[in-house]
Amino acid sequence: QAKDGGRNAVRFFVPEMQAAIEARLILEQQLRYALERNELELHLQPQFDARGAVFGAEALLRWRRDGDWIPPSEFIPVAEESGLIYPLGDWVVDEACRLLADLCKLPGCASLVLAVNVSTRQFTRVGFADTVIATLERHRIPTGQLELEVTESLFINELGTTQDCMEQLHAAGLRFTIDDFGTGYSSLRYLQTLAVDSLKIDKSFVRGVIENHSDASIVRATLSMAQALKLTVLAEGVESEDIREFLVACGCRRFQGYLFGRPVPASAFRQQLLSSGVSPPP
Ligand code: C2E
Ligand code: MG
Ligand code: MG
Ligand code: MG
Repeated sequence: QAKDGGRNAVRFFVPEMQAAIEARLILEQQLRYALERNELELHLQPQFDARGAVFGAEALLRWRRDGDWIPPSEFIPVAEESGLIYPLGDWVVDEACRLLADLCKLPGCASLVLAVNVSTRQFTRVGFADTVIATLERHRIPTGQLELEVTESLFINELGTTQDCMEQLHAAGLRFTIDDFGTGYSSLRYLQTLAVDSLKIDKSFVRGVIENHSDASIVRATLSMAQALKLTVLAEGVESEDIREFLVACGCRRFQGYLFGRPVPASAFRQQLLSSGVSPPP
C-alpha cells in the first residue's frame, strides 16, 4: 500500500514538473530571439524632486511577445540562469544611452539622469565596466548622467572584484544606487567601503509608512543613516499623497511611483519632457 501511495505521488508530481521545465525552455528559446526580433523595449518612469519637478528617470525593460507584454519578473530570472542576461544587459545599457543622448538634446533637459538596472550576474562578468564606459563614449554621454542600480546581492560574494569594478566605473564618473534597499542579506559595511552614492528605499517599506509603525521606523532610520553617510535617498513605489507628505517630513527629496507617473514608452516620456523640462538632481 505504501508502495502504491508512493507511485501515485510520483505519477502526480512528474507531469507538473515536466510541464514547468518545458515552459521554461520555451521561454528561454523565445527570449533568445527577442533581441534580434526587436521585441524588447525600455519604458521610462520619471523621478521627481520635492518641488514636483522631474530630474531623471528609471529605464525598465519590457518584452512584447506576440502582442502581449511579458513583465520583467517573468523573464529576467530566466535570462540570468541561462546567461542571456549578458547580451540582454548590453542591449539595455546601449539603448538607455541612445535614449539619453536623444532626450538630453530637448530644451532644458541637458541635466537628465537615467538609471538602469544591472543584475548581479551581469555586473560580475569580466569586462563589464569597460563595456559600459565604451558605450557611453560611443553615444557621447557625460558619464555622470548614467546611474547604475544594483542590488545588495552584489555584495554577498567576491567583494574584491566587485569593488574594483565599482571603483573603475565610479572613477569614470558613473553613479551607483542600491536598489530595493533593506530587502537583501548583505551587511551594511559595504556602504562605507564601496563607491555607493545613493539608496533606493524598497517599495515594500514605502507602501506601509502610514499604517505600519515598523515600516515608518525603517524608512525614517534609512533616511537619517543615509544623511549621516552623505548618501542621497530615493523612495520608490510612492502611490499616494499621504505617503509623499510623510516622506517629505522625514527629509526625503527624491520620489518615484504611480502617484507621479507610471513607466511609459520613451516617446511618451519625451512628450512629457517637452512640456516640463528637467531640474538638476536635488
Ligand atoms: P525595480 O528596479 O525595483 O523597479 C521598480 C518596479 O516597481 C518596476 O516594476 C516598476 O514598474 C514598479 N513600480 C514603479 N512605481 C510603482 C508604484 O508606485 N507601485 C507599485 N506597486 N509598483 C511600482 P517592473 O517594471 O515590473 O520591474 C520589476 C523588476 O524587474 C525591477 O524592479 C528590476 O529588478 C527588474 N528589471 C526591470 N528592468 C530591468 C533591466 O533592464 N535589467 C535588469 N537586470 N532588471 C530589470
Ligand atoms: Mg530599479
Ligand atoms: Mg527597486
Ligand atoms: Mg524591486
